[in-house]
Amino acid sequence: MSNIIYKIGLFNKINPNQTECLDCKAEGRQKFTFETPRSSVKSLRTHLFTPLHNQSEFAEKYRKLEASQNENDSNQAKISDLLPKSTSKFRLEFI
Ligand SMILES: [Zn+2]
Repeated sequence: MSNIIYKIGLFNKINPNQTECLDCKAEGRQKFTFETPRSSVKSLRTHLFTPLHNQSEFAEKYRKLEASQNENDSNQAKISDLLPKSTSKFRLEFI
């Protein structure tokens, strides 16, 4: 599964190890390709939150996607937290 950072429309994977920033490419900025070895998106994340893009709709979109992803993760954690509790309640009712 590709990272949510590719869903914001700013980055384009050009090969398994390199990704380009479409905005920087369009603006003719010197650096617009980033090393993404083993699908690591660390360099992209860092770039997204530099002053170049930090205030852009791309960064905004990424923050929202990241927040909703974290929400899903914590919901899943809550469900598994509930399981032992409901088991002990079940036992109590039969004592
Ligand atoms: Zn850029």
